Amino acid sequence: MEIGFIGLGKMGFPMARRLIDAGHRLVVFDRRKEAVDRLAALGAQAATSPKDVADRVENVFASLPSLQASLAVATAADGVIAGSRVRRFVDLSTIGAQMAARIQAALAGGNIVQLDSPVSGGVAGAEKGTLAVMVSGPRADFDTLKPVLDVIGKVFFIGEKPGAAQTMKLANNFLSATAIVATSEAVVMGVKAGLDPAVMVDVFNAGSGLNTASRDKFPKSVLPRTFDFGFATGLMVKDVRLCLEEARSLGLSLEVAEAVGQLWETVIAEMGAESDFTAAIQPIEQRAGVVVGKTPV
Ligand code: NAD
Repeated sequence: MEIGFIGLGKMGFPMARRLIDAGHRLVVFDRRKEAVDRLAALGAQAATSPKDVADRVENVFASLPSLQASLAVATAADGVIAGSRVRRFVDLSTIGAQMAARIQAALAGGNIVQLDSPVSGGVAGAEKGTLAVMVSGPRADFDTLKPVLDVIGKVFFIGEKPGAAQTMKLANNFLSATAIVATSEAVVMGVKAGLDPAVMVDVFNAGSGLNTASRDKFPKSVLPRTFDFGFATGLMVKDVRLCLEEARSLGLSLEVAEAVGQLWETVIAEMGAESDFTAAIQPIEQRAGVVVGKTPV
């Protein structure tokens, strides 16, 4: 199938590469030219704008870092909406239910179907094709694109309501965000009391403390102190804020989510939006006066 792909970052690049490897013909765009060049070297055609992509293919995928980027790529004057061939816009970004519904409505005016398709599973999942892919939108369009989505991961149809998949994704990322800061607090407490953090993580993973932070993030990026898991603190905080907004818009006050949100606001204030989200442990360490890791700094 001919597929457009806009946003070739940490997630978009490996997803686009998998689609090429699976035999699809890709037309790609990113505002970073080097990312476009790297995919062109793998056989993709380079485009000059989202409109240019949407002039050339019926199905346009996007993996973008902010609500504003998704809105602009979809609906600006040189956006997907202005393309002559496009029929479907598949947004793999995390943008929240309200923005997804706004983009869906704008594209519907241009006779373009939006499939809202946020993903979970990180850069490693994008490289291996093992992401959880959550999709909402018209069932028939989902069925048409399911074989393409199968290339990037395990696909779940969440419902036809615009934004439903975003609600699913925010619930998932609330748990992921919670696992990181909760595991950080647990390990910092242990280290303060003289425990070995590597042993602590092994015990969690053999016991009921097991979670995605103890299983993946601590062994790979926290204990070795490389802080390089591949997801920016700014993106994690975006997702936590979106989750809290979603809860409030539903009339809910989620006490754990509010506390987790406050912790992540501290992380972004002290570590910066560009830091890797595994650096969330550092403000907790600093307040405790300890450093967690195999090689104390
Ligand atoms: P990233 O910052 O690495 O990549 C975003 C890409 O979009 C960059 O290459 C950037 O140049 C490009 N871009 C930005 N604005 C653009 C525009 N207007 N037009 C064209 N290109 C533009 O981000 P990422 O980590 O790949 O995340 C992308 C999305 O996937 C986000 O919504 C994020 O929340 C979500 N996500 C990320 C992960 C992860 O582990 N990194 C996991 C699940 C979901």
